[in-house]
Amino acid sequence: MTNYLSSEVTRRSGQHVELCYHCHKCTAGCPVVAAMEYGPDGLLRMVLLDQADLILSSQDIWLCAGCLTCAVRCPNDIDIAAVMDSLRQIAVSESYQPGEPDALLFHRLFLGVVQRLGRSHEAAMLGLFKILSHVPLLNDMGAGLGLFLRGKVPLLPGRSGASAEVGDIFQRCK
Ligand code: SF4
Ligand code: SF4
Repeated sequence: MTNYLSSEVTRRSGQHVELCYHCHKCTAGCPVVAAMEYGPDGLLRMVLLDQADLILSSQDIWLCAGCLTCAVRCPNDIDIAAVMDSLRQIAVSESYQPGEPDALLFHRLFLGVVQRLGRSHEAAMLGLFKILSHVPLLNDMGAGLGLFLRGKVPLLPGRSGASAEVGDIFQRCK
């Protein structure tokens, strides 16, 4: 039972969603399933049913934290995190409005900071995220200050010694 969406998921992720027999083990272990509408194995079923509009505009594909719990639990070795990645890629490439716009913004900011510095810089990333998503800048200042005082969040960004190699990775991915 293949269709455009399942073929595209397989091409991008290397995963064969038709192997799923819906034992539900992935969904039972997913730490964010309570916030999802369909859940991991529900999404796999919908891929096979070619319900592209519902899937690609759903918040579920953006809520996945990529923790791999589902992949570890799956008796058929389906890497659902990779499937979720491929669904996000398809949604962006086909200009679907993301079900969780802030998640897409967060992904883009993270990659932008890593591309420029060769490493993440949490203070810059979260500052930009708050400004662009219209979250009040000081609403969790207490937590941020605690991390800063413990030396966990440097205030000024520093470039990684491997930033050129990281830049090469971005170029190759393009
Ligand atoms: S654990 Fe694997 S086989 Fe079971 S429902 Fe999830 S994806 Fe399908
Ligand atoms: S990788 Fe995503 S779908 Fe799988 S268990 Fe983690 S959050 Fe849930």
